[in-house]
Amino acid sequence: MDELTPRPLVIGMTGGIASGKSTVARVFSRLGIPWVDADDVAREIVAPGEPALAEIRQRYGARLMLDDGCLDRRALREIVFADPAERQWLESITHPRIRTRLIEWLDTFHWRGAPYALLISPLLFESGQQELVDRCLVIDVPEYLQVERTARRDDVDEAQARDIVAAQMTREQRLARADDVLCNDGSPESLEAQIKRLDQQYRDMPRLPGNN
Ligand code: ADP
Repeated sequence: MDELTPRPLVIGMTGGIASGKSTVARVFSRLGIPWVDADDVAREIVAPGEPALAEIRQRYGARLMLDDGCLDRRALREIVFADPAERQWLESITHPRIRTRLIEWLDTFHWRGAPYALLISPLLFESGQQELVDRCLVIDVPEYLQVERTARRDDVDEAQARDIVAAQMTREQRLARADDVLCNDGSPESLEAQIKRLDQQYRDMPRLPGNN
């Protein structure tokens, strides 16, 4: 980290599938707020040459490897979606590495006066990443909208979308852990207005002790 620039407030942002994380991140970006996405980091740590990829290959063999040496993420998702023990194994080799990379990012990022930053993660609570942030922001949507938006965006049928939503943490569990909530059940304009209010609130927040 730039020694003269104290680490700003870090907001952890989460929400279920198709709740609007990417949409919200784009608005914060336009407002000049830097962010790191745990999903991007999750892809980085299984890139060719990474130790996590070698461990996955050792467990499942070459059938999970694409011709270009990359991981067939879709095939792996199907395995872990069907078997909780496999999911647990996968998380045990990926979550600690994701966490380490996120900490590195937070420690080395040149903040250049950014008033605060976002750590965006679909598994903020499930993976213990909330310990890396100062506040938690939950994007909340009713399940029927999540299903509808997932089906439309990912070109899956509604039954599949419902299964994915059902396998995730519930709306109530997320809301119980939230410091701040964005309701994404209205128009994009209503979402943007809420984000602008929250942005102002975060800019006005005093830096927490221990953040320097
Ligand atoms: P996530 O990153 O949480 O999975 P996205 O930001 O990709 O969610 O949003 C899921 C889908 O829903 C996208 O196709 C997005 O364009 C759409 N979407 C998000 N917010 C709204 C909204 N307020 N109204 C209509 N569609 C929305």
